[in-house]
Amino acid sequence: MIEEYSNKNITKLNEIGYWQNKSLYWKCKICSGTYSLSVQDKIKKGTSECPYCNNLKPLPSFNTLQHVASNEIQDWNYINNYLLLNPNEILPNNTKNVWLNCQKCNNNYLISTKSKLLNNKRKISSCNFCKGNRYKQFHFLNY
Ligand SMILES: [Zn+2]
Ligand SMILES: [Zn+2]
Repeated sequence: MIEEYSNKNITKLNEIGYWQNKSLYWKCKICSGTYSLSVQDKIKKGTSECPYCNNLKPLPSFNTLQHVASNEIQDWNYINNYLLLNPNEILPNNTKNVWLNCQKCNNNYLISTKSKLLNNKRKISSCNFCKGNRYKQFHFLNY
């Protein structure tokens, strides 16, 4: 546990008691990510508490969408998503809608990456236009 004590902490390790509920930084040995956790919780939960290894928080180039599923998001529209989300800063199961650009029909559609990966797994198209909802979309946009 002491090995994981991050040098980002202002408090020195010998200045804190094990009972303290103060949040400190820990550097995970597996993913090298730094996270904060109280001394108490760290003792209770041990080394398995890393939020990155547990896929609770994204760590660029470790568990992010781009890192683990880049071949699943070839439709990613970098221009439209520029202000929304960066695939190297989100987890694959992110539920926020992003813009994808269909490689088959070249239309843009909105979907969460979680649904997209689920559709990929089930071999279902995620694109509204390819799925045959073209007319609905057309009327909606021209109304
Ligand atoms: Zn970790
Ligand atoms: Zn399509």
